[in-house]
Parts: sequence; structure tokens; C-alpha cells
Amino acid sequence: MKALFLFLIAVTSISAQTHQKIYDIIDTVSEERLRQDVKTLTEFGTRNTFSDTTSTTRGIGAARRWIKNEFETISKDCENCLNVFYQKDFVTKEGNRRVPHDAWVINVIAIQRGTKYPNRYIIMSGDIDSRASDTMDFTTDAPGANDNASGMAGAIEAARVLSQYKFESSILYVGLSGEEQGLFGGAGLAKYAQDKGWEIIGILNNDMIGNIEGVDGIIDNRTFRIFSEPVPPNETQQQRTARRFYGGEVDGISRQLARYVHNTVKTYMPEMNPMMVYRLDRFGRGGHHRPFNDLGFPGIRIMEAHENYTQQHQNIRTENGINYGDTFEHVNFGYAKKLTAVNAINMASLASAPPAPTTVAIGGIVEASVKLKWNTVDGAKGYKIYWRDTTSPTWDYSRYVGNVNEFSLEGIVIDNFYFGIASVDKDGFESVVVFPNEIMR
Ligand SMILES: [Zn+2]
Repeated sequence: MKALFLFLIAVTSISAQTHQKIYDIIDTVSEERLRQDVKTLTEFGTRNTFSDTTSTTRGIGAARRWIKNEFETISKDCENCLNVFYQKDFVTKEGNRRVPHDAWVINVIAIQRGTKYPNRYIIMSGDIDSRASDTMDFTTDAPGANDNASGMAGAIEAARVLSQYKFESSILYVGLSGEEQGLFGGAGLAKYAQDKGWEIIGILNNDMIGNIEGVDGIIDNRTFRIFSEPVPPNETQQQRTARRFYGGEVDGISRQLARYVHNTVKTYMPEMNPMMVYRLDRFGRGGHHRPFNDLGFPGIRIMEAHENYTQQHQNIRTENGINYGDTFEHVNFGYAKKLTAVNAINMASLASAPPAPTTVAIGGIVEASVKLKWNTVDGAKGYKIYWRDTTSPTWDYSRYVGNVNEFSLEGIVIDNFYFGIASVDKDGFESVVVFPNEIMR
């Protein structure tokens, strides 16, 4: 009888856990506040990075001061839990084809400091800036309601919701600038993070999270895309060579972050269809996660599934019966709320989880069982081995193995699957999965 009792306890402790806190976060995201904030952002006329900075009502200067003030107001409501500041870099016309004149590119940052791992950051970004048809035109109206007031409002709203909680790792909410002229703001913040020695769990770049009616005529308020590059661009030749023999072509750090988001959404928001796209970004197009990827940080792009190109990067006008322009009335706020919640729950989960192991070794060549060995992590209650068929996009199999630093999966052959390890804390919050980075002979 006693043995049976222990067995039942063991089963409960390894079953997948869900957290009421995560459901509460989903429910707290406000569609109405997103609507108000997007409206306010469109009312600055243009938020072109090179627009007026002195007016109190028009241009990017007024817009960023308003965003900073919003973060400061949120901070007042959580006993000053946010550290709000500008981070800026000077860009010059010389050598930059899309820079009309020298200017400061200024990002607005709000940091919610982690209680246990203050130097680890999960980042959510939106963009402050907008553009008209001609990206050099910094005076014509460019409301940029969906591109990208939607992502900016999402970051502000996520701060409102998550600032009501405490997390072990830091959460950074940011409005980036200079996106439309060359990803300057993202490049500036990525460099800043590198110089400060920040440990970046990942950046969730939100760029256009409010359009549900595609130029293709499809209306869909459930599907969204998660873009992630396969492997880091700054890997070494040695890592590239090793991949031919040990695998990992679709298992870089950004891809693991994409899988994490996919899994969290499938667990907590089953009404949504997260669509992983196995590429850095749209075909030939860019976004603010890229400069982070360039420096070797994990980063993904979260965005709507169906774009409408008559409402992106267009002067407001009517031509042949088509209304061009990225205006307020095209944004679907029920959908923007869902995608904001996607960010919020993933940041809450990641900021609650212990760090992932840094070293994961794998072995089992010409053996019937695969062996894994990893470094233990402060704060982890135990570890979970994940594996999947080589053709599967998601980690379909898992086994919680407790507080050990090595394990053999009996009868599972190394050749036929891909494997990874995640740290798990006492409440069941998990780190991103780490793909093996060492070989055991
Ligand atoms: Zn754009």
C-alpha cells in the first residue's frame, strides 16, 4: 500500500503543470487600453524617426515622451517597479542611404528587475516609428496604426499586466526607433546589451500584431506567425562543420525560443493557431529581432498571419476605389489583445523559470540507448529531457528525470531523434530547451 502511494505522488509530480497565474495574465490584457494607446500613437501625425522632435503634439519626439510617460505611470502603480529611461545612438546621413539627416535614434526602455536573476532579460519590443510611402519623407502623415503602433501598444500593455507580479528574471519592455530606415534602434539596444554583459533569454519582436484581413481576402483572427532563423549567423566554422555529422540544422537558439512560444500558446491559449515559420523573417524583409540575432542573441518575430500591403508603408489616399494607408480603423483589437497575451504569458513563464543548462553533452553512438549529460543550474528542481522525430517541428516527447545531471533513455536510439534538455523549477516553470552542444564518446 505504501509503495502504491509513493508511485501516485511520483506520477503527479511529473505530469504537465499549468498555472493559474498564466490564465490570470491572459484575462487581464485589455483590448480597450490597446485601442486607446494605438489611437493616441496615430494622433502624433507621423512618427518617422527623422520627424519633428520639439513639438508637443506631432512627430517622434512627442510620441516617445508620451511612451516614456506611460511607462512611468505604470511604474507609479507598482511601487516604482520599472526603471524607465532613453537609450540612444546617433545616426548620420553619410553612408546611410535611407537617412535624410543626422539624428538621434532614441529607444524607450522599461525594465522590471528580476528578484533572483537581475542580469537575465526577456525582452518584448514594439516600434515607435512609422513611415509614409517614401521612407525619406518625414513630414507627411504616417499613422502607422498596425505598423507598428500595435506592437508598441502591446509592449506597454504587457508592462501594465506583468508589473502586478514579481519574477525571478528581468523583463524589459521597449519601444524601438529607426526600424524603417535600417533597424537602427534594435542594433543600438543589442549592442548596449552586449556591452553591459546582459544575459538575454530572448527578444520577442512584435511587428504588426493587429491585422486580421489579408490582402488575399482571408480573414483570420486565430492564426499568427512566429519567425525564427535556423541557426545563429555568428556561429563558428567548427560549429557549422559539426552540424553535418551531429545535426542541429533546425535547432538554433532562436528556433528553440520559437518552439517555447508555440508550446506555451498550445497549452494556455488553445483557441489560437501559432504558426512557426522556419525563416528569419518574411522573404527579403526585415525586423528588429535581426540585430539581436546578429550578435548571437535568441530572438523571434511575432506577427499577424495575413498582411495587407495596401495598409503598409502607404500615404493615406484613395486610388481606384482602394483606401490606402495604415489607419486606426483597420486594426482588430481583439486580435491584438490575443497576441499581446501571447507575449505576456511567455515572458511570465520564462521569467519564472530557472536558467537553462549551458552545456549539454550527448552520446550513444552504436548503442541501444541515448545518453545525455548537462551542467546543473542553481534554482532548478530538476530537468526534463525532450526529444522528437527528426522531421517534427515540435518537441513531442518528454521525460522529467528529476535532479540529476545525466540520464540514459533506454531503448531510444540516438540516430532516430533529436534531443534537448530543459531546467524545471519547483512550480513546474521550464526554461527554453537546449540542444546538445558537446559529444560524449
Ligand atoms: Zn514597416
